[in-house]
Amino acid sequence: MSERTIFDKILDGEIPCHRVYEDEHVLAFLDIFPLSKGHTLVIPKERKAHLHELSDAQSAAIGRVLPRIARAVMKATGATAYNVLQNNGPEAHQAVFHVHFHIIPKLGDSGLGLSWRAGKLEGDAAKVLATAIADAL
Ligand code: 5GP
Repeated sequence: MSERTIFDKILDGEIPCHRVYEDEHVLAFLDIFPLSKGHTLVIPKERKAHLHELSDAQSAAIGRVLPRIARAVMKATGATAYNVLQNNGPEAHQAVFHVHFHIIPKLGDSGLGLSWRAGKLEGDAAKVLATAIADAL
């Protein structure tokens, strides 16, 4: 099992949070350093650092409620656009090593800033890559 994180302490009630949703498998609460009003974190109760380590049951539980929580965030903030962000690994901006999904309303200039440096998908290499990923499933 990975080290206890700040989110484990929130789950165990040692640290308070502004909770917006909870069920048997999932907790959602406001981010303490929001990128915009309503920035919400949705976490599985299973203590895994990375998305790819989550059990099917916990993944399904998150997937079931994520759209519902997004709807509620939009309704409460008046946002009509938002990003769902899920970071894995420090190189990918992960700071808390307990799986979490950010729901980040885009409200004017506030929200997620993105630098999207798109490459180009080349036919032959893409075929090999798609096969490699499919074979790894
Ligand atoms: P990451 O960069 O790991 O994807 O995001 C971690 C998020 O957790 C950050 O947006 C940060 O503001 C939030 N966070 C860190 N510590 C706390 C805390 O104690 N309480 C709450 N509510 N959010 C936290």
